Amino acid sequence: MAKAVCGRFAPTPSGRMHLGNVFCALLAWLSAKKQGGTITLRIEDLDKPRCPAGSDMLLEDDLHWLGLEWDTGGSAGGKDAPYYQSRRFDIYAAYFAQLQKLGLTYPCFCNRAELHAAQAPHLSDGRILYAGTCRHLTAEQTAAKARTKDPAQRLRLPDTAVSFIDGHYGPYTQNLAAECGDIILRRSDGVYAYQLAVVVDDALMGITEIVRGCDLLSSTPQQLYLYQLLGFTPPAFIHVPLLMAADGRRLSKRDRDLDLGFLRQHFVSPQPLIGLLAFLAGLLPAPEPVSAKELLPLFNWQKVPHNNIIVSEKRAAAKKEEEEKRAKRKERKQQHK
Ligand code: GLU
Repeated sequence: MAKAVCGRFAPTPSGRMHLGNVFCALLAWLSAKKQGGTITLRIEDLDKPRCPAGSDMLLEDDLHWLGLEWDTGGSAGGKDAPYYQSRRFDIYAAYFAQLQKLGLTYPCFCNRAELHAAQAPHLSDGRILYAGTCRHLTAEQTAAKARTKDPAQRLRLPDTAVSFIDGHYGPYTQNLAAECGDIILRRSDGVYAYQLAVVVDDALMGITEIVRGCDLLSSTPQQLYLYQLLGFTPPAFIHVPLLMAADGRRLSKRDRDLDLGFLRQHFVSPQPLIGLLAFLAGLLPAPEPVSAKELLPLFNWQKVPHNNIIVSEKRAAAKKEEEEKRAKRKERKQQHK
């Protein structure tokens, strides 16, 4: 029998969710629910100082308001608790130790300036490929450096191509050495890296389907390599286009007029907002109020665009429509007084 589908939302609560985060959450929810599956909510608060207190609860409140209910995780917990990455460091430590035992990790003492040095190889997307400076330090050199600096820990990545078939974008291949470089597994302050934590968590939480922004497409080969090293079965990966601002920037938590705090003040109910997202996702011909549940019969990955989506004009049109409706409602109420 095929394994039941288990999808997830894995937000980083570094601020209020914005429209792009909700777009991704909606598609993850629709995909899992359409297949009769479940959704797990995992709070990716690895970097605690970047996550303001209370933002996880706001995030849960926003998901409830949107009607994107999850089955396990978050503050309600569940069989794989804790669902907060900041409380799972012991688990990451155990898997890091496994990789260390395999001789695949090494300490890296490079500082930011060294990593950004002019000769550091840059990838086409602007990321810096680690030049491997600390890969071949001798035991004596390591000991000497460790006297004055706590090292980060890196994973040796081989000169191997990793391929997979993305559920939305199709075949994707990357050479680990040439296109990822030796990745960080643990930062010098002891915080485990997203790349390790996400693999360990998705595997231990029984996630079978990952729906997330296409900015993480290029992280997938290195994550698949970690799945292989740690003996886990990888899930299906489905990446989705990003929502962009009019100037071509990706939406970020700094775009306050697109965060849920602002949007909840302007949209009296979640339906117009879900309708706008469904329109952007190609599921509706025009932005009309609809609930997440009502979209289930309409959901189909084939309708979802591949190019990133510029949100401003469409958002402006939907906002105008919503404001007009609101004004009409007000007018009607006044006529009845
Ligand atoms: N926590 C990441 C984010 O909020 C998502 C990671 C993932 O989906 O793998 O962008």
